[in-house]
Amino acid sequence: MAAIVEEQKQITQILAHDILQKRVSHAYLFTGADQLQTTALGYWFCQALFCPHAHAGYPCLKCNNCRRIQKGDFPDVSVLQTSKQNLGIDEIRDFKLTLGQTGLENNHRVFLIKGAEKLTLAAENSLLKLLEEPEGDLTIILLAASRSSLLPTVLSRVQIINLPASSDQDLLQRLQQQGYARPDIDLIQKVHLEDQVITDLSANQFSKIKTQVQSWFHLLLDNPLQAFVAVAASILPIIENRSQQEIFWNLLEWYFSQNLSEQTGSTSALMKSRQLGEQFLHAQKLWSANVSFENSLEQLALAADSISKGS
Ligand SMILES: [Zn+2]
Repeated sequence: MAAIVEEQKQITQILAHDILQKRVSHAYLFTGADQLQTTALGYWFCQALFCPHAHAGYPCLKCNNCRRIQKGDFPDVSVLQTSKQNLGIDEIRDFKLTLGQTGLENNHRVFLIKGAEKLTLAAENSLLKLLEEPEGDLTIILLAASRSSLLPTVLSRVQIINLPASSDQDLLQRLQQQGYARPDIDLIQKVHLEDQVITDLSANQFSKIKTQVQSWFHLLLDNPLQAFVAVAASILPIIENRSQQEIFWNLLEWYFSQNLSEQTGSTSALMKSRQLGEQFLHAQKLWSANVSFENSLEQLALAADSISKGS
C-alpha cells in the first residue's frame, strides 16, 4: 500500500495546511469504504499534530513521537476500537475520566475512535457533550465507513472529510469492469454514490433502480395516484435492502433538484415544484426515522396528489 500522502494527496494537503494555519478543528470525521485508508489517515493526522520535526505541516514519520503514535503507544493519543458489535457508553465515559488527569506529555489531546459506526445511541449522545463543550485542547477524530450511520447532531459538530474510494480513474475502470454503462457512471459520480454502489450493487441492479426512480419521479409529477400504486407494484419488488433504499432516495433527490433548477416556467409551476420538494424531504425524514420505505413513498405520492389538485 502506497503512503497515505500519495494516495490522498489533496486531503493530506488540506489537513497539513490547517495545522500550519493553526486552524485545526475540534472534531473530524474521516469516512471511506476503505478502512485501511481511513485508519492510515487518522494516524497520519495525529503524527502531523505531534511531530516536533514536521515540515510544512507534514510529519517526519521517523521520530520518536511519530513511531510511538504508529504503534499506539503515545499517551496523548487515545485510540478507541472494539472487535465487538457495538461501542458502548462505558468506553466514552472511561475516556472522559482520563481527561482530567495530568502528567501527559503535551497540552494537546487526541481521541481517535475507529469504527464510529459501531457507537450506540447512548455513546453517541455522550460523545455529543464532548463535541458541544470541548474540554481544553482536545481533538476528536472519528473514523467510519459512511456518515449515514451517525446522528445528524454529531455530524453537525464535526468537519467531515470523505476519502474517495480510489482515484477517479481507478473508479471509472472498476465500474467499467463491473459492466456499468458510461451514462450510469456519470450519474453515480454526480450523485456521489461511489462507495455505496461499489460495495453493494451490480451494474444491472443499478440500472434497474435508476430506471425505476426516473419513471416514478415522472409519475409523481403527472399522475400521483398511479405513483401510489407503483410503490407496491413496481418499486418494492426490485429494492432488496436498506442500502438500496438509500440509493433510491439519493437518486430521487437528484431528480428533484434537477427539476427545480430547470423550472423557468410559470410561478405556479415553480410553487408546485417547491412544495413537492418539501414533501420529498418530509418523506425522506420519515424513512430515516424508521417509517417503512413503502409507507414513506406512498405518503409522498399522496402529498403530490393533493399538491396537483391545488389543495
Ligand atoms: Zn516525526
